[in-house]
Amino acid sequence: MGLGPPGPANPLSSVDEGPLAPLGGGGPLPDGFRLLEADACLGVPGLPQSATGGTSLFTGVNAPAHIGAHAQGYPNTELKHLIANQGVLRKARERGAHVDFANAYTPAYFERGQTRHRSVTTVTAETAGIRLKRLEELCRGEAIYRDYSNQILRDGGHEAELLSPEAAGTRLGRMAKKRDLLVYEYFQTDIVGHRGTVDDARGLLSSLNRFLMAALGVLNPEEDTFVLSSDHGNIENMENSSHTSNPVPILLWGKGLHKWTEKSAKPSICDVAPGILSVVETR
Ligand SMILES: [Zn+2]
Repeated sequence: MGLGPPGPANPLSSVDEGPLAPLGGGGPLPDGFRLLEADACLGVPGLPQSATGGTSLFTGVNAPAHIGAHAQGYPNTELKHLIANQGVLRKARERGAHVDFANAYTPAYFERGQTRHRSVTTVTAETAGIRLKRLEELCRGEAIYRDYSNQILRDGGHEAELLSPEAAGTRLGRMAKKRDLLVYEYFQTDIVGHRGTVDDARGLLSSLNRFLMAALGVLNPEEDTFVLSSDHGNIENMENSSHTSNPVPILLWGKGLHKWTEKSAKPSICDVAPGILSVVETR
């Protein structure tokens, strides 16, 4: 999700209140939020992609410069090595923080064994010693699926309760309250940016906005910090189906908002991991 000009091709423009409203110019930045525009191109030619963008986001290292190009899909051996050494969850854990990754995985994922594809977030979690969550935990209310509603799981024949954006957001907020640092990955915005219509995108973002509002409703801005960011733009320009070179949001809320340390006057996605480490507290 990126920050593009407002207009009919930008579905974020139709969000008129809540945390996503300022991202497409559809509404003002709500009280208590701060929005940084972060470069995702990182001085490397071509459009930003998930493997290198995600690695940059979760390590603070310029991953496309490190391997010489923007790389899509799953991280290669070199990027996995970078994540294993520099991952934000591992670093926070080494400082004594209780870290966790909220996303749930299906049995089919584990059945693939060593041949399974490991995304940036999967590697970030596993190399921090986090056990990936299963559907059992999802059913107990202790994990969230990648679409948070569980619709994808139900369509795939799994038994999972259909969650409203409010119910799922409340779950995310409650999970975060029990940890020092919780990561949740949501990439349906990228999928709809590639394959969906403007109406699909508007519906998705309206739901995501409700999910985020519910999560923030559980959190306390005097105690907690919320960070939303992205590895690259896409959904903010529905005129084409590819990623964009637009800056991406670093949307901040809560206690750590003023402690957030910026590496330079021109923020990039490499500021996200060090920024998180500058605000994470152990209890
Ligand atoms: Zn994509």
